[in-house]
Amino acid sequence: MEIVFCTNNQHKLTEIGQILGSQIAFLTLKDIGFNDEIPEPFDTLEENSFTKANQVYQKTGRNCVAEDTGLFIEALNGEPGVFSARYAGPECDSNKNMDKVLDQLEEVKSRSAYFKTVISLIIDGKLTQFEGRCDGYIAMNKLGDDGFGYDPIFIPNGYEQSFAELTSNQKNEISHRRKALDAFINYLNQRSTQST
Ligand code: IMP
Repeated sequence: MEIVFCTNNQHKLTEIGQILGSQIAFLTLKDIGFNDEIPEPFDTLEENSFTKANQVYQKTGRNCVAEDTGLFIEALNGEPGVFSARYAGPECDSNKNMDKVLDQLEEVKSRSAYFKTVISLIIDGKLTQFEGRCDGYIAMNKLGDDGFGYDPIFIPNGYEQSFAELTSNQKNEISHRRKALDAFINYLNQRSTQST
């Protein structure tokens, strides 16, 4: 079955490729020549990931999958959460987003946080969603050069290094994205077993 992965984020595509290996081959938006803007206007990961997949599904009729991810920090009442991509404003980048988090937590000792990913899959018009979560805490400053987004300030529980200090294999064994993709692959495998 052909499935389009609806993201223009190269970091995500790379991680997804590393996690899934040869289990499934996706088409990308580039492969199908889809160049429209894909907005994320809602305030839940579920609605945003659905909207991304559905926008491409409605326009192309192809089976589609999309994901939305956020970093939820307990001491900031769940911020930046679904607004993680634009936390420091419309012109922000990952460094500015991380600086804002670190500023807000300057005097804060309790630094629990988690990443959550929601995947929306649309096959023949039917939506199925999967989620994955990785718990940890926010470092006192940026650590490491690998990874992307908030990786340098997030230390997963059970580790002393940030996601940006761990190898990509280590991150991909325990990450929110890995857990959501595992659920997604299990679903596809069950589906193909049932249809044979
Ligand atoms: P979105 O899912 O593309 O909206 O991403 C939301 C924000 O979270 C962006 O700033 C991403 O860079 C960041 N982000 C998404 N996934 C990860 C991750 O695995 N590690 C660190 N930051 C991430």
